[in-house]
Amino acid sequence: WAKADGRARWTLFDPERNAHRMTRQALSRTLRSAVERGEFALEYQPLVGMEDGQVRGVEALVRWHHPQFGTLAPNRFIALAEEDGSIVQLGRWVLATACRQARRWHLEHPGVPPLFVSVNVAVRQLWDSDLVADVAAVLAETGLPPHLLQLELTESAVMGSAGRPLQVLQALSDMGVHIAIDDFGTGYSNLAYLSRLPVKVLKLDGAFVRGFPYEDTGGPAGPADEVIVEALVKLAHRLGITVTAECVETTGQAARLRRIGCDTGQGWLYSRPVTPDRISALLAAGCPQP
Ligand code: C2E
Ligand code: MG
Ligand code: MG
Ligand code: MG
Repeated sequence: WAKADGRARWTLFDPERNAHRMTRQALSRTLRSAVERGEFALEYQPLVGMEDGQVRGVEALVRWHHPQFGTLAPNRFIALAEEDGSIVQLGRWVLATACRQARRWHLEHPGVPPLFVSVNVAVRQLWDSDLVADVAAVLAETGLPPHLLQLELTESAVMGSAGRPLQVLQALSDMGVHIAIDDFGTGYSNLAYLSRLPVKVLKLDGAFVRGFPYEDTGGPAGPADEVIVEALVKLAHRLGITVTAECVETTGQAARLRRIGCDTGQGWLYSRPVTPDRISALLAAGCPQP
């Protein structure tokens, strides 16, 4: 009982924990109006062809420039936004901003193969908003070709999808938009099931890549992770699905992923998420290597 008592007191009086709770409350209070105040911004992280190292597309990643707490990463507020429903408005802003930016890049750099833009979509956007209408509207407004828009959903958002989520995915796919499964391998990875959904791309979770040896020693067969990834990539390809590896940080990891047959990679080895002007500079240089 002494322990339980101690825990209880710690819970009540720990100042750090209390500050954390107050920050959380302050964030959720200001979240709803933050879109209108223009406090969100997007960074873009290159997605690179494993074979040639060329940028094929970029993933849009949201940041919150909070007047009180400074720049916040999405892990500080996306879950909150999903809880209170403000993700619908935020998600709409992210989608429109990313599509407009992509189209601007295409028009400003006609000599470079057009980049696709990949946008994260929260499960609640499948349920609580008319995502299909939003996407159709933004494609019409911007003139962005549908195949240059990729939408990333997590496994848990689409697994077991029946009814509405499946209809939404199908309608988006029928429009020509590409559907990607984000953080693949962290949930109930059922590729057989996924093959029945209109999925174009699997994004292998960073946990797989992290399991790879740090340096490529060219030694004997790698650990279990590598065997599993190789099998996953083969199966995905047989199903007509391409594979992107997340969190590629070393040349050794990249070499292994390339050998295994991953199509594209994303990670600090190539580039961190950057502001849009950095992508513009890359395109202006003509040869889109990050
Ligand atoms: P995600 O979609 O899996 O995005 C990849 C995350 O991994 C990003 O974190 C990126 O900065 C980070 N990352 C990229 N390369 C590396 C690497 O080599 N090593 C390591 N350690 N990390 C790397 P970020 O920007 O903090 O975003 C975190 C998550 O927040 C995203 O994970 C996504 O689930 C969510 N998110 C971001 N933007 C949005 C958005 O606009 N809408 C929604 N619904 N979720 C978003
Ligand atoms: Mg993502
Ligand atoms: Mg991811
Ligand atoms: Mg991830």
